[in-house]
Amino acid sequence: MTLAEIFPSVRVRAPGKINVFLQVGGLDDDGYHELATAFQAVSLYEDVVATYADDFTMAVNGSVPLEGVPVDDRNLALRAARLLAAETGYEGGVHLEVHKQVPVAGGMGGGSADAAAALVACDALWGTELPTGELHRLAARLGADVPFALMGGTAIGVGRGDRLSPALARGRFDWVLVTSEEGVSTPAVYGELDRHRERHRVDIGPVPAVPQVDADVLHALRAGDARMLASTLRNDLQAATLQMRPDLAPVLELGEREGALAGIVSGSGPTLAFLCGGPEEAIDLQVTMSAAGHVALHVHGPVPGARVVG
Ligand code: ATP
Repeated sequence: MTLAEIFPSVRVRAPGKINVFLQVGGLDDDGYHELATAFQAVSLYEDVVATYADDFTMAVNGSVPLEGVPVDDRNLALRAARLLAAETGYEGGVHLEVHKQVPVAGGMGGGSADAAAALVACDALWGTELPTGELHRLAARLGADVPFALMGGTAIGVGRGDRLSPALARGRFDWVLVTSEEGVSTPAVYGELDRHRERHRVDIGPVPAVPQVDADVLHALRAGDARMLASTLRNDLQAATLQMRPDLAPVLELGEREGALAGIVSGSGPTLAFLCGGPEEAIDLQVTMSAAGHVALHVHGPVPGARVVG
């Protein structure tokens, strides 16, 4: 008996992510950058509810501004559902309700989380029961960050960030996220990085041919040591994002001055992630940043990847 025969709909929760380390290599032949990244899934979630339907439809709601989120076939969640149907020969459709908490175009992989959640939800609803490896293969076809949203936890990603291996992480890391009303376009940030590298080629030196995650990052994650992790945070996109969004620099400084161990732009931004010494320090920082007029959220990681919930 499939889940669908027991329940009329399936709810799946998938996490947003922070890149605690992101080294960007040169452009490959397809115009993409080689990456080496360490992802951590955090407790800011997207929920996708899948219900039987003849066609493919969706609706979006949530606690974040939703401008720019398509509700047609440009939406990654709907594309995920269609891809699974095409690959498995499923002939019906689905209605997806996406509940967003991850800021849109925020650098936290919200759309990727929706796609991962839609894959898992439709797989359960339709009883297609793809093996995990197959789901990951479909996820990688949808986008570079989708496989990590499926896997969750803490992981190293190479290639475009989609070739994953789990990383051992002990304990819990407390983060304060400061979100922005307006997102930034990831391709625009990469474009800015390329121009920055071109302008400052002499000072920067050669771009690494094969980017790699520093051993110190893995060590800090394995030890569950927030202080150690703070000293190894790195994001090669940060300078480009700050160039496009100079308003973020003083906010980064404020968070670090007010008690964060370190602050970093999350992925391509503009969300800022502040690593804190523990839950109490994070609550204090959240209060301070909120009092200064920012939208600040306290989250923790690592948390599991896309999974069916109640
Ligand atoms: P990325 O780095 O992959 O661009 P991000 O976290 O910065 O990710 P997302 O919120 O995932 O940003 O979305 C980026 C863009 O993708 C949005 O501006 C929107 O136009 C489009 N999009 C497609 N599907 C979705 C979805 N389910 N949720 C949000 N945006 C989506």
